Amino acid sequence: MRREIRKLLVVAAHGDDETLGAGGTIARLADDGVLVGLCVLTNDDGSRSVSGSGVTNRVAAIESAASVLGIKRVRVHGFGDNRLDTIGQLELNRVVEREVRDFEPDTLFTTSLADLSLDHQLVSRAARIAGRPGRGSVREIRCFEIRSATDTGEASGTPSGFRPNCWEVLEESHLDRKLEALRAYGQEVDPWPNPRSERGVRALAEYRGSQIAAGLAEAFELVRVVH
Ligand SMILES: [Zn+2]
Repeated sequence: MRREIRKLLVVAAHGDDETLGAGGTIARLADDGVLVGLCVLTNDDGSRSVSGSGVTNRVAAIESAASVLGIKRVRVHGFGDNRLDTIGQLELNRVVEREVRDFEPDTLFTTSLADLSLDHQLVSRAARIAGRPGRGSVREIRCFEIRSATDTGEASGTPSGFRPNCWEVLEESHLDRKLEALRAYGQEVDPWPNPRSERGVRALAEYRGSQIAAGLAEAFELVRVVH
């Protein structure tokens, strides 16, 4: 029997992590009446801007993507992109713990320790710490995979690697919303065969779906669930 998720908090390093990692599942859960909150730790795209014409208002893009996915509450913190290591783990832990205390989610989704991005690793640790047993409301923690960040993590030989053990089946409409939310981020959507192209995102959903004999799916690492 599926444990009912009532309140989900998605903890992300960058605006677009939530969409690339779990956009289809978020849309599906929101449709099912789950209250979904999003906490993004950084609010600029400085070091990722290739052309220099990056998204000018990151917060607006995050809010726009969130509204497509059905996320009801968005908090964007002001840390610098690709500079979370300069903030330190302890401070990040405090920020995420405060978010969890305020929102009281029963479930956390976050980035994977297997990702190449140091920001993703730091945020993943902060979320796991905020959701550890006996500290609050969290009963389930899952990590999602992000095209490019998780791909390169595996390819680079990160010891853990992304090992999914939890799949969420998606309908076409959920994938459509994921792609629509992705478009809110503008330049994050690259042409095929880039892993973050729309076709690249669909290809992963089809691959994860085929692993469980379903048309489309998103895969997660289930860190812990308490029934
Ligand atoms: Zn990211």
